[in-house]
Amino acid sequence: MKVLIIGAGISGLASAYWLGKAGYETEVLESSEKPGGRMVTLERKGDRLDVGAQFYHTNFKHCFDLMEEMKMSGERTDVTGSMVYRLQDGSVREYPRGTIYMDLLGLGGNLKLYWNVFRHLALGPKIIPYHINDPIPTSDSIAVLDHFNRESDRALRDFLIFPLAVGATMGPPEYMSLYHFIRALHTFAISHHVCLARGVSSLTDELAKVVGVQYGSPVKQLIMEKGKVVGVELKNGQVRKADHVIVALDSASAAKILPDEMAEERRFFEGIIYSPSPMPVFFLDRPLPGNVWNYWSDPRMQRTFLFAIDERAKVPQMCPSVKSVLTFWAVLPKTFDLCKQSDGDLAKQAKEDAELMIPGVSNWIEDIQIVRLPYATEQYPVGAYQRIMDFKHRAEKLDGISFASSLLGGTNMESAAGSGFDAVARVRRILGK
Ligand SMILES: Cc1cc2nc3c(=O)[nH]c(=O)nc-3n(C[C@H](O)[C@H](O)[C@H](O)COP(=O)(O)OP(=O)(O)OC[C@H]3O[C@@H](n4cnc5c(N)ncnc54)[C@H](O)[C@@H]3O)c2cc1C
Repeated sequence: MKVLIIGAGISGLASAYWLGKAGYETEVLESSEKPGGRMVTLERKGDRLDVGAQFYHTNFKHCFDLMEEMKMSGERTDVTGSMVYRLQDGSVREYPRGTIYMDLLGLGGNLKLYWNVFRHLALGPKIIPYHINDPIPTSDSIAVLDHFNRESDRALRDFLIFPLAVGATMGPPEYMSLYHFIRALHTFAISHHVCLARGVSSLTDELAKVVGVQYGSPVKQLIMEKGKVVGVELKNGQVRKADHVIVALDSASAAKILPDEMAEERRFFEGIIYSPSPMPVFFLDRPLPGNVWNYWSDPRMQRTFLFAIDERAKVPQMCPSVKSVLTFWAVLPKTFDLCKQSDGDLAKQAKEDAELMIPGVSNWIEDIQIVRLPYATEQYPVGAYQRIMDFKHRAEKLDGISFASSLLGGTNMESAAGSGFDAVARVRRILGK
């Protein structure tokens, strides 16, 4: 019983690992020369930093199971620092982990927030974290900004909804349904951030060693015989056959390999809105004071780079130099324009924006690097959950193929690992082990 897995991101590696445990032969085909996909670690002079995925959350069940299997649980590190807003008037607001009252929202904003948390999270349909399942609530068909559209909601929009949307999906709230917002709020309300001492991607590094990956093996297309997927053709013309194929790709890559027989599934993937990640990284000559991992300029200014993460404060073990390393974050649709700009232009823009978060910081830069990831995070606008559920129902009827991807559960590592878990369960149902 052989299963081919296309893609060595966490969804593909998790699928291969669990299939291997169940006694299947697996072959993982990866187009690039490294595992992890969007989980990426950058190294410089002994310092390491996450430049793709940033955090696990304490309720990432499948990811923590995998860490345990890889004997990595001892490497978990909690993110304990605070986040800071520097406002246009020069004032600074610092919010330590676990803050329950945000003064920037005012009493009315805090009350409205808690009322909505109670209404949607306590009284609403039960949320299965990081899974998209029927029934899809009506909040999927309402934009979050249409729900919080009163003048009195302005502070909530500016200081909570906008930063949460940007932080969760690198997209503005215009690309977010009320349901996706509720689920993002749910994640932040009931869990906190966790990292790994060697970087978020050390989990996929370890998984890849166990399952074995064929790097430099881009798949060109799926091969079908009599309506069933029976294998793949690689870009170099080689053919690999198997009893089942798991497509564990981002939406843009998945759309490219689906045959005409799956035109409807291809259209689904082509219709997914996503953001790339153009990321300037500043290596500073000193540690920044305090225990702040997240710096924001005033969200109302809507600068190009909206916030920065200090890797030294986030995971001190990652930065033995004890100097701060800052990554800078922009938002869709600007991210697409930024991808076309030169490294110099990105660095210049990031310096300007950084001064509004951390005055004086541009004088302390030792080195700048630019990291570009063509595909970062999927967006969940109005109707997205229903479209995903419709796709899942259709995919159940396909023969010889299953899908795994973070897209199918809410754009994060846990939804990717969980989608791998679901794909393995389906393979076992069909092939019977
Ligand atoms: C900047 C950034 C920050 C993020 N922050 C967080 C965070 O804090 N927390 C969180 O949980 N998630 C975060 N995410 C999202 C998270 O990284 C992804 O949701 C998750 O890693 C996706 O895993 P995946 O396996 O579904 O897909 P991917 O990681 O995209 O894996 C797909 C793999 O398929 C390969 N591939 C593509 N085409 C082919 C082909 N034709 N043939 C063979 N192989 C192919 C790719 O090279 C890649 O390795 C972030 C992502 C980015 C980029």
